[in-house]
Amino acid sequence: MSSSNNESRVAVYPGSFDPVTYGHLDIIRRAAKQFDHLIVAVLNNTSKNPLFSVDERKALLSEVTRDLPNVAIDSFRDLLVRFMRSRHAQVIVRGIRSITDFEYEIQLASTNHQLDPEIETIFMMTNPKYSYLSSSIVKEIAQFRGSVKDLVPPEIERALAAKFASRP
Ligand code: ADP
Repeated sequence: MSSSNNESRVAVYPGSFDPVTYGHLDIIRRAAKQFDHLIVAVLNNTSKNPLFSVDERKALLSEVTRDLPNVAIDSFRDLLVRFMRSRHAQVIVRGIRSITDFEYEIQLASTNHQLDPEIETIFMMTNPKYSYLSSSIVKEIAQFRGSVKDLVPPEIERALAAKFASRP
C-alpha cells in the first residue's frame, strides 16, 4: 500500500506490552498486512510499575514477531506524535476490546489529533476470542502459577515463569 506521493506507509502500534499477549499479536499481524512498515513501540512510562523492563519487553516482542519482516520493535518516552515524526510514520494503530477501551481511546486519539492533525489514529477491533485478554490478567494468573498457555506465546509463558520463580 503506497500513499499518493510514493512514500511508504508507516504505522506505529504503541503500548505498554507488559508482556505482549495473543491479543496484541493478533493486532500486530493484521496491521502489518495493511502497511508497508509497522513499528511496535514500547512506551517507556516511568509512572507505571512494569513487571518487565523496556529492554525485556522489546526482546520478547522481537522474538514473537520474528516471522514478520515488515515489523520493527522500538521504544519511546517522548510525546507519541513527536516519536511518529522522527520515524516518518503517519498512522497510529490501537486495538479496541470493549466500550471501556473505546472511551479512553477516543480521548487519546483526540489529544493526538490536537497535537498533530496530520497524524491519523485507526482502531482495529479485537478478535472476539481475545476480547477479555489483557497483560494485567496474564500477570495475575502467572503470579499464582496458573496456566497462561492459551493467552500468550510459549516464549512469553517461559519469561513469566522465570520472572515469578525469581520472586518470593
Ligand atoms: P496501554 O497501556 O497503552 O493500554 P497495552 O499494552 O495494554 O498498552 O495495549 C496496547 C494496545 O493494545 C491498546 O490499544 C489496547 O487497547 C490494545 N490491546 C490490548 N489487549 C488487547 C486485546 N486482547 N485485543 C486487542 N487489542 C488489545
